[in-house]
Amino acid sequence: MSVVAWIGLGAMGGRMSAHLAAAGHDVRGVDVVPALVEAAAARGVVAAASVADAVRDADVVILSLPKGEHVRQVLDGPDGAWASARPGTLLLDTSTVDVATSRWCHEQSAERGHRFVDAPVSGGVSGAEAGTLTVMLGGEAADVADASGVVAPFAGSTIAVGPATHGIAAKLVNNMMLGIGMLAVSEGSQLARHLGLDPQAFWDVARVSSGDSWPLRTWYPVPGIVDSSPANRGFAPGFSTDLAEKDLSLAVAGADETGVHVPAARIVLEQLRALQAEGLGGLDCTLVARFASPDGTL
Ligand code: NAD
Repeated sequence: MSVVAWIGLGAMGGRMSAHLAAAGHDVRGVDVVPALVEAAAARGVVAAASVADAVRDADVVILSLPKGEHVRQVLDGPDGAWASARPGTLLLDTSTVDVATSRWCHEQSAERGHRFVDAPVSGGVSGAEAGTLTVMLGGEAADVADASGVVAPFAGSTIAVGPATHGIAAKLVNNMMLGIGMLAVSEGSQLARHLGLDPQAFWDVARVSSGDSWPLRTWYPVPGIVDSSPANRGFAPGFSTDLAEKDLSLAVAGADETGVHVPAARIVLEQLRALQAEGLGGLDCTLVARFASPDGTL
């Protein structure tokens, strides 16, 4: 069993780290929000006073942070993970960040004598809770092989996607497709409702028909149909609009760089930004279903 430093105990990290503790690892957790550290402690993660404290004796350091800027800040600087970790420590970043940040993490980690693997995840909070996430790994083959073993307690599928940054690139493309799928479910759920269909009866049809999708099964934006839907809890996240907007903008930026046409992704991005402009960025991204409703109610 290993000593694991876990940085970022939010919606995803709180649950993923608990799986490692349950598997018998000595997990030391840090978050800037004390209530999240306490919640993780109740699930077997030992509270560490700082990033430096958490990583000092760690075999593996795992990050689950909002954005690239947070990842850079936690790794770099005199109190950062690079400065305090033992040489050769395996660093895994499960956050969804931009490709440039991930490349920088790989290069700088190597320069400082550490091993880095981009290890973004898919499957949402429900997948993190169940320990069935898809983990997409990018890096040197030997490091990726070691990372596969580490993530096993919270992974349903682990895929060695390729060299450095290929995990994160796959994640950004996947989440662009998720956003477009969410748009289909937004519009379908509201059209079904306003055509007078019973929501459960319609969901039962789509679930076993060609309209089926991950957002239909997991995020259906009508209360009372799917247990894991944020619609059942006033659109508390889940996957926040702010994080979804980040992912879609990174994917659209990739499309702009490569000349790929992504009109559907641009519509989703516009809707997420409209929610943010209303001050609703902290609510779940499935709230975009409002834009399909004739009067904005769900
Ligand atoms: P979150 O905001 O709930 O959690 C991130 C945590 O990082 C927060 O608790 C925050 O306090 C903490 N944090 C920020 N700066 C810190 C620092 N300097 N030191 C220590 N802790 C710090 O976000 P989340 O939903 O758990 O997502 C985490 C990452 O995983 C994001 O990159 C997100 O895009 C990605 N992701 C999220 C989902 C999802 O459904 N929520 C699914 C897949 C991937």
